[in-house]
Amino acid sequence: MKRSVKVVGLTGGIGSGKSTIARLFAEHGVHWVDADDVAREVVEPGTPALKAIARHFGERILLDSGALDRAELRSLIFQDEQQRQWLEALLHPLIRESILAQLHPGGTHLSDYRLPYTLLVSPLLLETDQHELVDRIVVIDVPVDVQIARAVARDTNTREQIQRIINAQMSREERLKHADYIIDNASATANDENSAKAQVAALHDQLLAEFQRIR
Ligand code: ADP
Repeated sequence: MKRSVKVVGLTGGIGSGKSTIARLFAEHGVHWVDADDVAREVVEPGTPALKAIARHFGERILLDSGALDRAELRSLIFQDEQQRQWLEALLHPLIRESILAQLHPGGTHLSDYRLPYTLLVSPLLLETDQHELVDRIVVIDVPVDVQIARAVARDTNTREQIQRIINAQMSREERLKHADYIIDNASATANDENSAKAQVAALHDQLLAEFQRIR
């Protein structure tokens, strides 16, 4: 009997630890797809989507290198709701299609892939229709002050910029309401990934049991 490979969505706010936790799952052999990476890939130079964007907005939307000028695009769609909708109508189906293809590299049935589930890592899993692609939702939970401290330490953004991004994302409470599983990534001591490691190991076992691993 063939079984479908399940998809587990991993989400959390900026700086909550999505990339870190995804790497911990990968140590168990779990295949994962990062929705942010896919969103960048579909508009790389040479893609039909980038050509369509350049036709629509004009060459000013391209940098000298031929790559998409994201800052320019952001400001254009920020000012104009219709343009934002045009862009989303173009990109969302492409992103979705590419996510699906990458989630199931060996097809939608267990064949080449050893494990019964793959991971979709996405900051906007709950805010977009991406949650329709997943069978379970794992939320990485940290208090906002930890989120800010880690994001500021990692990026060049200021505390205020991170706070603005957090304000635009779903609230911590709302996100938790959608969780089938929660990973608490606010370790007591700084730079301690041991607690996260143990939680990922336990959750991985639980997901394997739940999806009835077949060898
Ligand atoms: P996200 O992908 O959700 O934006 P990251 O995985 O990049 O978050 O984590 C944000 C920052 O916090 C990174 O610099 C990462 O190394 C650090 N970090 C993540 N988890 C922990 C943890 N448990 N303890 C200490 N630092 C952490």
